Amino acid sequence: MRLTARINRIKPSPTLAITMKANSLRAEGRDIVGFGAGEPDFDTPDHVKRAAVQAIGDGFTKYTPVGGIDELKDAIIGKLKRDNGLDYARGQICVSCGAKHTLYNLAQVLFEEGDEVIVPSPYWVSYPDIVVLTGARAVILETKAAEGFKIRPESLEAAINERTRAVILNSPSNPSGVAYSPAELEKLAGVILRKQVLAISDDIYEKILYDGLPFANVASVDPAMKERTVVVNGLSKSHAMTGWRIGYAAGPAEIIAAVTKLQSQNTSNPNSIAQKASVEALNGDQSIVGEMVREFQKRRNIIVERLNAIPGIFCMVPQGAFYVFPSIAGLLGRKHGGKVLASSADVAAWLLDEANVAVIPGGEFGHDDHIRLSYATSMAQIEKGLDRIRDAVMKLA
Ligand SMILES: *Cc1c(COP(=O)(O)O)cnc(C)c1O
Repeated sequence: MRLTARINRIKPSPTLAITMKANSLRAEGRDIVGFGAGEPDFDTPDHVKRAAVQAIGDGFTKYTPVGGIDELKDAIIGKLKRDNGLDYARGQICVSCGAKHTLYNLAQVLFEEGDEVIVPSPYWVSYPDIVVLTGARAVILETKAAEGFKIRPESLEAAINERTRAVILNSPSNPSGVAYSPAELEKLAGVILRKQVLAISDDIYEKILYDGLPFANVASVDPAMKERTVVVNGLSKSHAMTGWRIGYAAGPAEIIAAVTKLQSQNTSNPNSIAQKASVEALNGDQSIVGEMVREFQKRRNIIVERLNAIPGIFCMVPQGAFYVFPSIAGLLGRKHGGKVLASSADVAAWLLDEANVAVIPGGEFGHDDHIRLSYATSMAQIEKGLDRIRDAVMKLA
């Protein structure tokens, strides 16, 4: 069968693949501790579920407007005003089937062959492939652990040329958990405005920030940036709603109209019932957010402390999201059963085989001397998994 060059240029999402592999080993009876999950381990709040049941009972089960119902757009507009101090009209909002779908749609309407898109590394696994599928080039902008995995204004400026269309920002970040301060974002905004490129701000972890840190995005730190930014967000992480598939873009009307046109020729509207549930999630009781963040922060503290107690592993303290991205540089070159651990993929495979612990190799995020662990799992699992990792490391030659 001949498949297109386009589809052969990308790979399946490695995080989903490893989660599936851990699940199938579990089905075979192996007791696997999974640190792969990219979703909260909390349940969707009851009041949100009830809104969905209500929608079904009311027969709200037909096509809706392609870019989402006005009621949901208004709830999103209210959220963006309340949380981010940003004013949008309905024509500047498009609701899609998850933030990943939003990003895909945006890439399809904004980028093409000959364009370059700046993707800071470590990056979320889907950004480069979403860009590559448009024919554009993903220009990976390296950051160093020693610089807190943050891009500096000078390095952003140096990476921009006449082909550059956009930079994708993700704060708090998956996988590093790093969050930019308003002052840092202001400096990046200065470069973006001067160079007249676009910012795509993936704010999906906005609500998951620790130690009382405030959230900011690049559009909220400088009034001139709103016209240069597309804000991407969704309900998956903030309200434990990954399966409902609701995400959205807020940005210049021309871009939003193009995204909506594209969507009219592929998915049509996002799920009608999930839209009603999302209205309730955005307008109703927000207590799940605080509960999740308090619990995640406790887990973050434990997992960072326990990782740093293992020789050969070093873990920075992340400010947000629910991942740690420790350096495993001290394990590379060591041996188990005569085999050398030469890469993050080797380390992940060894941990799965020898320790029954599933982690994601950092190479998938552009940093081969790191691994990613999600702590969206119970404290008991975290303690058990860290015991296993420590014991396995102690046996390395
Ligand atoms: C989870 C995630 C998303 C997308 O989530 P959806 O479920 O598609 O809304 C987008 N960006 C990052 C960085 C993520 O981790």
